[in-house]
Amino acid sequence: MTEYKINTKCVQAGYTPGNGEPRQIPIVQSTTFKYNTSEDMGKLFDLEASGYFYTRLQNPTNDYVAAKIAALEGGTAAMLTSSGQAANFFALFNICECGSHIVSSSSIYGGTFNLISVTMAKMGITVTFVDPDCTDDELNAAFQDNTRAVFGETIANPALTVLDIERFAKAAHAHGVPLIVDNTFPTPVNCRPIEWGADIVTHSTTKYMDGHGAAVGGCIVDSGKFDWMAHADKFPGLCTPDDSYHGITYAEKFGNGGAFITKATAQLMRDFGSIQSPQNAFILNLGLESLHVRMPRHVENGQAVAEFLENHPKVEKVNYSGLKSDKYYHTAQKYLPNGGCGVVSFVIKGGRAAAEAFMKKLRLAAIETHVADARTCCLNPATSTHRQMTEAQLEAAGIPAGLVRMSCGLEDKEDLIQDIRQALE
Ligand SMILES: *Cc1c(COP(=O)(O)O)cnc(C)c1O
Repeated sequence: MTEYKINTKCVQAGYTPGNGEPRQIPIVQSTTFKYNTSEDMGKLFDLEASGYFYTRLQNPTNDYVAAKIAALEGGTAAMLTSSGQAANFFALFNICECGSHIVSSSSIYGGTFNLISVTMAKMGITVTFVDPDCTDDELNAAFQDNTRAVFGETIANPALTVLDIERFAKAAHAHGVPLIVDNTFPTPVNCRPIEWGADIVTHSTTKYMDGHGAAVGGCIVDSGKFDWMAHADKFPGLCTPDDSYHGITYAEKFGNGGAFITKATAQLMRDFGSIQSPQNAFILNLGLESLHVRMPRHVENGQAVAEFLENHPKVEKVNYSGLKSDKYYHTAQKYLPNGGCGVVSFVIKGGRAAAEAFMKKLRLAAIETHVADARTCCLNPATSTHRQMTEAQLEAAGIPAGLVRMSCGLEDKEDLIQDIRQALE
């Protein structure tokens, strides 16, 4: 579907029914698939033929939806996972092993920060975190001989920093490793990291892609552009025979366009089993069908709320890359010309108590540990996710006690502003 525009791909990519077949993607609610002969099935196990045999590895519903997301991001292959956490873990662990090292932006989702810095450390994988605004020298100095990947988020959750994807891709490639970008917040409607040099793109589809707070899920997309064989010494898992798969060498058999996702499916999904349920994939696809219609409204509401807050005397600071005053405005103009997302964060004067009182007064915006769906929601980290921290610790972590993160939904922006105005007053 490369010839169509992104709006059309949101609606129709990934699944084209034949004559008399269902117009909507069928939910293949079956764990297993039937074959006439053992030889037929043997070919699937040897990866000699493509087909389905067990839903832990692959399911047609998931594959239709993954193919749509691959088309949206401009990739060659994709896979759905049970969550965004599983997507980021698989994307990294597909090319890292005990003794490997990762260079990661320090401005990333808390769950991913924990995954890399604590859980993957237990597997013998180390990390160097770099400030997304570090100098080129600082970025290059973070690489080691055993570095296998660079990781960052297009728009970081919750810090809302904007990654200079081209700069990070250049540094990764100069050191012979791929750049993995978590593109959850802008979605491919607002940014396609592969066009800026990213090699692998990940998503928590739980957020805008589903968009209705209905189904947890994740996705990995391969650009097909990284030349694994040119760096074969770094990526033995892709470039040498896999003993657990009859000696297949993924990069040879499936090429740059297919090796990464085939290995992640055949090895990681087989062994870790974090498949998305076909039912959730169906729900995800309903979200994708309107993604291109919803994202501009999230951006419109986020921009309007950010501008209102910026001019309010009770607000100390607003973070939103669509504001001219924002540190990331110029970077966002390059990577997010149509806007980023609907998430705004701001600091209320008066700290923790003021933030708590403000949120109690909100009528439309609900207090939730969630972002990026149709209904506006908000969170004060100091009294929820980070409540164990003292004021001084919060300040040091760049999370002022009065910080509120607001995810602007699809309601009327005038109503949202009115709700915020009455709560502030
Ligand atoms: C939510 C989120 C994740 C984790 O995704 P889950 O679907 O909750 O597992 C990863 N990255 C980003 C940027 C997120 O916002």
